Amino acid sequence: MSVSTPGAEPPGAQVPPHGPRRWLGLLVAVALVSGGVAYTVEERERDARARPPATVSPPGANQVTKPSKTAAAIAARRLAIDTILIRRAQAVQTVDEALFLQDIDPADRALRAEQKVLFANLVDLGFTELGYSQAEERFDPEVVKAHGRTTYLVRILMRYQIPKVDLAPVTTELGYTFVNVRGRWVLTDDDDLDEDLGPGAHQEAWDLGRIEVLRAPRVLAVVEKGDTRRGRAIVAEATEALEQVTAYWPRRWRGSVLVIALDETDVRDARFADEDIESAASAGSTFSSLPGQDTADGTVAGAYIVVNPNERDRVDEILLSHEITHVATADLGGYEPLWLAEGAAEYVAWRGIEAISGPGEVGKWEQEVIDEALPALGALPSDAGFYQNNADVYGVSWLAVRFLVQRLGLDKVAELYEDMARHGIDQASRDRILFSRSGLTEATLWTSLKSYQPQR
Ligand SMILES: [Zn+2]
Repeated sequence: MSVSTPGAEPPGAQVPPHGPRRWLGLLVAVALVSGGVAYTVEERERDARARPPATVSPPGANQVTKPSKTAAAIAARRLAIDTILIRRAQAVQTVDEALFLQDIDPADRALRAEQKVLFANLVDLGFTELGYSQAEERFDPEVVKAHGRTTYLVRILMRYQIPKVDLAPVTTELGYTFVNVRGRWVLTDDDDLDEDLGPGAHQEAWDLGRIEVLRAPRVLAVVEKGDTRRGRAIVAEATEALEQVTAYWPRRWRGSVLVIALDETDVRDARFADEDIESAASAGSTFSSLPGQDTADGTVAGAYIVVNPNERDRVDEILLSHEITHVATADLGGYEPLWLAEGAAEYVAWRGIEAISGPGEVGKWEQEVIDEALPALGALPSDAGFYQNNADVYGVSWLAVRFLVQRLGLDKVAELYEDMARHGIDQASRDRILFSRSGLTEATLWTSLKSYQPQR
């Protein structure tokens, strides 16, 4: 009974919050696309060479000039777009709306209106660093059909730093469509590529409508514009939750927490639209280098918390202390097994409950997990299908961490966590780390849980 279990992320297929492994499928897709791009460019140039000369020119001349003209046009376009991107970043940094709107297609009033909202949001976030750069061109016949022959669809990397929240600059991606209107490049769409980007792209807190940003020394809350009272309440709860994480988890983490609580079901890589998903919030990674950018897995920089729109009234320090535990360990690497990640987050949240309601409630819950949840499983819950599992995998993960704390002490468990998060890249590494630090394997940890008698 009672205190509802704190936080759970939506099912893994859409939102596995830990570990860069979820990007692997995506990487394969990107690799294929890149291969496709290279192929297409070659094809085009071959076509250009093969095409009969439009004007009469000396034999052979066309073969030489055509490709170089194409190359020159591509270089000129690249420079023009780079200039626009620099201008956009500069406009935000200098709070110059006219400059920001200067390169938007003047014929597209809806896009201009959206871009005004985006501009205001970006200014409110107060980035210490902001920059956009062109990644690769993408080809989509539908987009060309919609915008014409000059269409240039390009993946864009947005690199930014929110003061205190991002301890280093982080990267997110976008897709921009440019067209050339009488010799001048303008931005004509910003969502043509959304479907082909990584999870959560172009669904950042600032992409979804006008926001309000509320600040405390170590908390930043993003709510709908005018939802000030809720924003203040979230800031207060998150501040308390942060104190709990500091009190109950040994790692000294000095960052600030970003909590996004919008009236939106899809924010970043969180998906709350599915009615079957009863999750109150999730913590999703930020990347200093996106998967596939420098390394296959990318580099996790930290995490932001996204609150389910239907749960915004019930955000409390218990829920937030669970999520903040994820945030405060996110930059370690994200390779820890989910039972350890969720178990640690539950451990911290339940220590908070214990502090409020005494040991009775926690003892009762622990016994329920032992009596009911444990027999429903045959092993420690694995990463695969963790969030789809109908059994109480959170309860069992919590029990495993409670057991390890009793056996090793909290500091040693935190060290085990760090080692796993940094180096648990595959099952063999995880087995080695767990065994060397606890004398247990996942199998013997599981059997130990079955005979575990909590100290009361
Ligand atoms: Zn969690």
